[in-house]
Amino acid sequence: MKRIILHVPLILIALAACQAAPQGLTVTQSGAAMSSNHSQNPYYSRTDTTKLDLPDEVWKKVLSPELYAVARKGETERAFTGKYWNYEGLGTYYCAACGNALFRSDAKFASTCGWPSFFETVRSGSVEYREDNSYGMMRTEVLCGRCDAHLGHVFDDGPPPTGKRFCMNSISLDFEPNSK
Ligand code: FE
Repeated sequence: MKRIILHVPLILIALAACQAAPQGLTVTQSGAAMSSNHSQNPYYSRTDTTKLDLPDEVWKKVLSPELYAVARKGETERAFTGKYWNYEGLGTYYCAACGNALFRSDAKFASTCGWPSFFETVRSGSVEYREDNSYGMMRTEVLCGRCDAHLGHVFDDGPPPTGKRFCMNSISLDFEPNSK
């Protein structure tokens, strides 16, 4: 019993270091890091910034089951499995649920946590924040500023100039390479 109690703080620290995946939705992705096909999602737009407020059943219909689980139900993909955690392409990352511009590759940094990490967003309104006290941790959840999709969490241990670490789920992101 004593040993278990001693280990609890260590486990909590390990979980807080990055995004926790306590219930372990396994979202594995492979293949080239290219934009997904959004033909089933009429709400996806790279240019329309109008706020989306759609019922859950609509999102369930237009998103893949894997993206729906993360974006709408707050699941977390397993570390080191997403398609962007160690991707170094130059371009822009958009919300995979609605097309809202979120991050540029020049704000991405090599993080050891196993999820794609950025030190700043494209613009201040790109994302919104919500207090997340689940699993006994005090974290700040990051949501898409246009559609409220769950993207990940933000921490204060990032690199300069912001000191922030936006720790994101790859599946919640779409990457578009810079045009040549
Ligand atoms: Fe979105």
